Amino acid sequence: MGAREAHPGAAPFTVRGACPHDCPDTCALVTTVKDGIATEVRGNPAHPMTAGVLCTKVSRYAERTHHPERVVKPLRRTGPKGAGHFEPVGWDEALSEIAARLGAIAARDPQAILPYSYAGTMGLVQGEAMAGRFFHRLGASLLDRTICAAAGGEALVHTLGAKVGMRVEFFAESRLILIWGSNSIASNLHFWRLAQQARRAGARLVCIDPRRTETAEKCDEHVQLQPGTDAALALAMMHELVVNDWLDHDYIARHTLGWEALRERALQWPPERAAAVCGVPVSQIRELARNYGTMSPAAIRLNYGMQRVRGGGNAVRAIACLPALTGAWRHRAGGLLLSNSGRFPARREALQRPDLLGERRPRTINMSTIGDDLLRSASPAFGPRIEAVIVYNSNPLAVAPDSGRVVQGFAREDLFTVVLEHFQTDTADYADYVLPATTQLEHWDIHGAYGHTDVLLNRPAIAPVGEALPNTEIFRRLASRMGYTDPCFSEDDESLCRTAFADVVDFERLLADGFAPLPVHEAPFAQGGFSTPSGRCEFFSERLARRGMDGLPDHVPNYETPGSDTRYPLAMISPPARHFLNSSFVNVKSLRDIEGEPVLEISAQDAATRGITSGRVVRVFNDRGDYHCKAIISDRARPGVVNGLGIWWRKLGPRGTNVNELTSQKLTDLGRGPVFYDCLVDVQAL
Ligand code: SF4
Repeated sequence: MGAREAHPGAAPFTVRGACPHDCPDTCALVTTVKDGIATEVRGNPAHPMTAGVLCTKVSRYAERTHHPERVVKPLRRTGPKGAGHFEPVGWDEALSEIAARLGAIAARDPQAILPYSYAGTMGLVQGEAMAGRFFHRLGASLLDRTICAAAGGEALVHTLGAKVGMRVEFFAESRLILIWGSNSIASNLHFWRLAQQARRAGARLVCIDPRRTETAEKCDEHVQLQPGTDAALALAMMHELVVNDWLDHDYIARHTLGWEALRERALQWPPERAAAVCGVPVSQIRELARNYGTMSPAAIRLNYGMQRVRGGGNAVRAIACLPALTGAWRHRAGGLLLSNSGRFPARREALQRPDLLGERRPRTINMSTIGDDLLRSASPAFGPRIEAVIVYNSNPLAVAPDSGRVVQGFAREDLFTVVLEHFQTDTADYADYVLPATTQLEHWDIHGAYGHTDVLLNRPAIAPVGEALPNTEIFRRLASRMGYTDPCFSEDDESLCRTAFADVVDFERLLADGFAPLPVHEAPFAQGGFSTPSGRCEFFSERLARRGMDGLPDHVPNYETPGSDTRYPLAMISPPARHFLNSSFVNVKSLRDIEGEPVLEISAQDAATRGITSGRVVRVFNDRGDYHCKAIISDRARPGVVNGLGIWWRKLGPRGTNVNELTSQKLTDLGRGPVFYDCLVDVQAL
């Protein structure tokens, strides 16, 4: 059953759904529909995590869906790449032409075709289900989807065994909460509600973040460390746990591996050494460690921002060792949460069908180096030059690092580019064809989460706007044009939703309620049971050592450490502006009006030495490029660090660039992820 048909004058009705955005909260939605139009999107009050509340961004989802600038017809390029000149074209014509181009490239080598996608939707069906089947059948290059969470994800796997952590609801019972690398008020709102509940019951909240965020302001304490120094802080905390014997020796003996070696490593990190690296007072590190070692239950809400530096993987490993040292995992309100996505038994192979590759083993391209890879020639090491890119659920021109190179790559006249989109984004401007995709209010999908442990079903509330089609249907039709007759291309979206979790969740309950909790343990590691090769929390990882890496976590300095280049004395991080989510929502006028324009937060001290006054337009620059925006003098920036809030669409910023003009394509120690927050710049008043 799809969206109900609109009957003018019929009474409004509501439809249950799920927020599709890349946010840990995965809220349950209730959409009100009147005369075929979504008039309001609210939080589902029956879903415990959502509790009837949405963030400001998604409460504007009806505005986004019925936005006058929605792409509602297939478009074909008529002008130079990047100029944004297109003509409408029928679906049949567009798909036939695209299939002909892809077929000709595939006849030479299908690996010259690259899918490029990420979490524009987190849905398992409109994400990679039919798309995966299509590209596997084609034999296209595989994409390493590293752009957000790869370093932290791999670190968790090497330490805890999987992307598993505390159940979020039990943070409400914690006595100490370290909010580490997370602006929860902006990007994990429903966790913040639980943290507030804990605080009302007497808990202490400590925020660890280079930026004085809205969250940092409201915590009891803010540890404002230098970007990329989190591992040093965690190691100094370990030092204090060891020398003061704030340790759970029984838990360590039963459930960990590598204790003696980690102990030696920690003893190399007295607070004085870490204080010099992190740029925070020794006394603050001592106090933090004391609180962590003596307040129980102690919980850590880690988020992905802090792993976007060279040593991001090591930093997450170091922090993930802490709860095993103190035995915090014994309590359901103790431990750590970075992600719970590993708890969801999603049947990705059944959805994406890698078996369609047969014997073929295509190369893998890392999405974080798309700029360089689009500009690479064919070679034995690289394989064929990339001749076609199909972009869906992503906006690489805005979000990928080193965007000058990304633009150069997408501007190649010989590159065939197809973009499935809601809007004419920066990336869509470089497409040969833009295909109108449905939003979450117009299609079926099913969702796991990474910040809670419920499965959510999304039912279509309205018919597709204009001629938009779900991603699944676009790939189904393309498959048909390519002559693929495999029965898997006929599976409909509701059936794909049923396939995603099979009988692990009761689909009838999902249809009735919109959500269903997974049956998961309250305290995942209370009795050990880590899914590492040893079954223990691996302080020492044999798997990493076999790869020639340090088997123990350590502080790995940034590629671009402050002081290493006198031309660029400032470290820059680029956290999201509060009312945007990566590059989504930037074109929603009511949200853009709140954000105003692209800004750079700079400390009074750094502004004064450069003659910068608040509100002045500045040039932020390094060897990779320059970016113009408005300077805001604020204590949100610590001296020596500037915060370039993201991620604006390039074409909506001054001079058509955004903050990623400055970030680099270097990769993290684990996971081969991007290092957005490992970036030196200077700033000049204009
Ligand atoms: S972006 Fe996050 S907080 Fe906002 S509605 Fe979606 S899941 Fe909820």
